Amino acid sequence: MRYLDLYHTGELLQRVKVAYGRLRRCDLCPHLCGVDRMAGETGICRAGFKPRIASATLHRGEEPPVSGSRGSGTIFLSGCSLACRFCQNFPISQLDNGEELTPPALAGRMLRLQGQKVHNINFVTPTHYLPQILAALWLAVGKGFNLPIVWNSSGYEEVHALELLDGIVDIYLPDMKYGDDATALAFSSAPGYPEANRAAVGEMLRQVGHLETDDDGVAQKGLIIRHLVLPEGAAGSSEILPWIARNLGVETHVSLMKQYFPAHLASGMPELNRKLTDGEYALAVEALEAAGLENGWVQE
Ligand code: SF4
Repeated sequence: MRYLDLYHTGELLQRVKVAYGRLRRCDLCPHLCGVDRMAGETGICRAGFKPRIASATLHRGEEPPVSGSRGSGTIFLSGCSLACRFCQNFPISQLDNGEELTPPALAGRMLRLQGQKVHNINFVTPTHYLPQILAALWLAVGKGFNLPIVWNSSGYEEVHALELLDGIVDIYLPDMKYGDDATALAFSSAPGYPEANRAAVGEMLRQVGHLETDDDGVAQKGLIIRHLVLPEGAAGSSEILPWIARNLGVETHVSLMKQYFPAHLASGMPELNRKLTDGEYALAVEALEAAGLENGWVQE
């Protein structure tokens, strides 16, 4: 893993220090709250100083190159910098279910999963705990940790924060959720999502390139973009998919997701209060094909 070199040169520890420094006026995501999380203040994501996780388990339900044959070591962080009205994980992301840990304890969960022979460690909704994850990684490497790192995020991120992950994250698995500001604000309270998101995925591609797998088809490094199709075309699929092809390349791996249902607060929003229809998903598949995107996954 590339982060092993950074560990041995001292660069990884330096990144930990720089990342924690950002908690003094937290600017880890585009909300730029400016709160002092080192002093116990909290911002929009409600995250404090110590990492909080909901689970750390072997998971087989990710995209095939991520799950592989032995599963992905999935660590769900509690809280989120988005407030998606339809979030299917809202007890974790919005109600903050989980347990508070120290970085050494988080490192212990990573090592335990490595002992279960998973292919990688997959941090889900990690953005607001970037410093704590880097600290846990530094501690875990000292005890023999050496698996690829998956950054499984909302894609609502700051490029300057992602730069701290350069040479550390092997596989980026971001969402591209919305094509316009008004929808991002109404559905996820995420001002400026499209612009921030596009800059973020561009930085991710710069760091890791397109997806590379081993002889068994297991991801070694690269970018996979997830796009959840919403009712009424609200996710902006017809804009986002051509944007990916034009700006990141037609070889970009895209996971076009169909599983929308009205969870959490969606029942109170007429445009979100129903399942996705087969016809709506078919339109998104047509947009994917028309854009010339060659790689990835569509659902039956
Ligand atoms: S990570 Fe949390 S506290 Fe920091 S800027 Fe984002 S929402 Fe605000």
